[in-house]
Amino acid sequence: MYHCGPTVYQRPHIGNYRAFLFADLLRRVLELADLKVTQIMNLTDVGHLVDDAEEGDDKLEAQARKDKLDPWQIVEKVSAQFFEDMNALGVQPAHAYPRATDHIEEMVEMVEKLIEMKHAYRVGDNVYFDVHSFPSYGRLSGNRIEDLEAGARLEVNDEKKHPADFALWKSDEHHLMKWDTVFGPHGFPGWHIECSAMARKFLGDHFDIHTGGEDNVFPHHECEIAQSESALNGPFVNLWMHTKFLQVDGGKMGKSLGNAYTLDDLAERGFSALDYRFLMMRGSYRNSLNFTWEALKGAAEARRNLNDFRSRLLGEGGEPEEMNLESLGAESAVAKARVAFRKALADDLNTSESLAALFVLRNAYVHGELDAAEYPVALALLAEADSVFGFFDSIESGGLSDQEIDQLIQERGEARAAKDFARADAIRDELTAAKITLEDTPDGVKWFRG
Ligand SMILES: [Zn+2]
Repeated sequence: MYHCGPTVYQRPHIGNYRAFLFADLLRRVLELADLKVTQIMNLTDVGHLVDDAEEGDDKLEAQARKDKLDPWQIVEKVSAQFFEDMNALGVQPAHAYPRATDHIEEMVEMVEKLIEMKHAYRVGDNVYFDVHSFPSYGRLSGNRIEDLEAGARLEVNDEKKHPADFALWKSDEHHLMKWDTVFGPHGFPGWHIECSAMARKFLGDHFDIHTGGEDNVFPHHECEIAQSESALNGPFVNLWMHTKFLQVDGGKMGKSLGNAYTLDDLAERGFSALDYRFLMMRGSYRNSLNFTWEALKGAAEARRNLNDFRSRLLGEGGEPEEMNLESLGAESAVAKARVAFRKALADDLNTSESLAALFVLRNAYVHGELDAAEYPVALALLAEADSVFGFFDSIESGGLSDQEIDQLIQERGEARAAKDFARADAIRDELTAAKITLEDTPDGVKWFRG
């Protein structure tokens, strides 16, 4: 699988992470089905213009000027933040995260091939793809060349043969990130050719799945198909999957609207990255999802309930045990939950149904309808769910999140101040049972796991 990754000019906001969390989910579901997955996600560090199409500044260079930094420094800083966020979100690392600027040679080679095959043409030091040379252009997005050209803006770059042609290679002596190649001394790649070249390098000419956000369908992925299928003279990708946008309070999310939240904004309000992950798993990738603080609060509570369910099963002596559905019998609550859990995932990744199956099981437990003999298999099902959803807290800490630990420590302090030592001791015991060690220091209570 190849996933269009972030353009590393600004720390991605939570809406950007929706597509990356989907990529992670997809991999985990395929692996649950015993498929072997090679997962590649690129980092775009040059050539992505503000306008997505041909016009405007390079996003990285615009940011560099604003911050009075070198674009390469921005790349380093933002990439580091991105990986930190991905880690906090519980995303399994992809097999590689290629950077566009490390693959200029591969891009140049593909552009040269397209020129040689008459799918592309040079105008001075610029190179354009001739969309009329690829009859199925528009297959993915439904955009027809005629309509695109009829709607083309008047100020279109008139060195192109047709208004819908797009740049493969651009030249600009003022560009900060530029390469001296066969096309001239001051060149840089178009955004679309980057993904075609990197996907080919890591996954070969023809591979299974390519994903991205819905904004990538056109022009980005449409152009990738045109370039790759033309250059390789054959099929490129078997399946395209796109995640719909995350909205905020029913509207668009954007920097200028002040609602392009980052994980830090969530943490400031007391929500963890895993709470956000859980919220994303509640919606289908095919539908836009509306972010509200209320919805995030609901997700955090639901996640806590599942964590608590698992802690209680563990606390009552359960140990995860290999699942044997046949020995469970069809009437077993766990067997039913597992069938529903898997069936929903197999139904176009219906994660909300799949999660609902876990809550049905939890309710059975809460109402005393879950036989204690089933606790080990129930734990095994929760472990399987964790392998797909990845939102459980680490088991070593008895399922307590950092936030819950802080809360308990605060309560303990209050209990001591009120001379309620029985309550203070009870909290200390609870934390000890969860393998949290407390240390009273002059600066207050410090804690660590283990
Ligand atoms: Zn891409």
